[in-house]
Amino acid sequence: MSSDPTLDPTRLDARALADAVRRGAVSAVDVARAHLARVAADRHHAILAVDPDRVIAQATAVDARPDRDRLPLAGVPVTVKDNVDVAGEVTTAGSLAHDGMPAEADAPVVTRLRAAGAVLLGRANMDEVAMGASTQTSAYGPTRNPADPRRSPGGSSGGCAAAVAAGLVPLAVGTDTGGSIREPASQCGVVGMAPSPGLVPADGVLPFHPELDRVGPLARTAADAALLLDVLAGGLADPSPVRRIGVVAELSGPRNRPDVLDAFDRWSRDLETSGIEVVTVSVADGPEALAAYMTLTSVAALDWLGPWLASGRAGEEVVRRAEYAASLVEEGAERVEWAEQVRTRLHDQVAAALREVDVLVSPTMPTVAPPLVGEITPEELADPLAAPYTDCWTVVANLAGVPALSVPAPAVGLPVGAMLMGRPGADADLLALAPTR
Ligand code: GLN
Repeated sequence: MSSDPTLDPTRLDARALADAVRRGAVSAVDVARAHLARVAADRHHAILAVDPDRVIAQATAVDARPDRDRLPLAGVPVTVKDNVDVAGEVTTAGSLAHDGMPAEADAPVVTRLRAAGAVLLGRANMDEVAMGASTQTSAYGPTRNPADPRRSPGGSSGGCAAAVAAGLVPLAVGTDTGGSIREPASQCGVVGMAPSPGLVPADGVLPFHPELDRVGPLARTAADAALLLDVLAGGLADPSPVRRIGVVAELSGPRNRPDVLDAFDRWSRDLETSGIEVVTVSVADGPEALAAYMTLTSVAALDWLGPWLASGRAGEEVVRRAEYAASLVEEGAERVEWAEQVRTRLHDQVAAALREVDVLVSPTMPTVAPPLVGEITPEELADPLAAPYTDCWTVVANLAGVPALSVPAPAVGLPVGAMLMGRPGADADLLALAPTR
């Protein structure tokens, strides 16, 4: 197949790339080679393991497919977070405490990616077993933020967000139990989504808290995120128009940095200018969400963390969470009951707010990307409630059981994300609404 020599595949978004491969304007192999060259030259440590021969073999197979001209992700390179099973590869989950056994089968999301013509390109770095918000707890070393390489990309899907932001791949698949897709998306200036519960299968993905875990897309545009989500979900409903949005008062107030609020205000004013009615709504228990989330997820982790701890190779953050969980269990049932009550109230409050308006909005997180070392003191890092403090708004969506999207807001300095939460099943509405710069 002859490729257009003037076309640089790493500059195209996923939709344009798939279109070019479908039309035969560029071969999947040339697309793969261009992205492999970008990965080889990259210094952000976003992608942990790449086997160029396997990448080229997949691309060669896509070029040979008789249905190539109908594949939604024809030849599009996609990186998957290292907690998602790929047949024949070890799912290390950013840890040295894994069992060393290669996965026997692809996770269903990986099967769907391959069927859609995607080319799997490496495994994305992550906080160890998805515990963390900076990608600094990875046993393989931190990922750097392409917006400022001295800073954290956020986490735990920091490798996914950095890979997309740095142009190593146009698409990535991450996981989000309390913000791990949206938060790094916000800090790296890309789009990330925790889809509706149950929309994307989580089998073959290392669980964290099975009722809160979501598997979802990261991309440079909302349209690309929608394309990937459509594949991951095995089909997405057509979007309905959004007429009324509600700014969540409790998540949009002074607990956010002024530069975050400034970018968020500009973003919501843009929505108003485009003819959408913007009102203020309340989710009264929003400020309690993080403490409830930490309680519920830490205790849930006791169900699966045993072998990782027993290996003696688990990192500090994982051990700290296990100790925190043990102390919660010792405290008695009241603490977990309190957290479950907060979860129920958040569910009811978010559902009530979503009867008043179509979509709830707030900043994705209260701050911008912190420096890799320095901003968080060792004391803060040791405090299980303070360390992932940046997840204080994102956890609301996981606890309330609704889809949530982070899109870049028009920030003056470092990237800032705006978060949109919708009714369960309204994923396409959020993606169609989201204005990006
Ligand atoms: N940062 C949060 C935590 O450390 C969320 C992690 C996640 O969503 N996987 O628990």
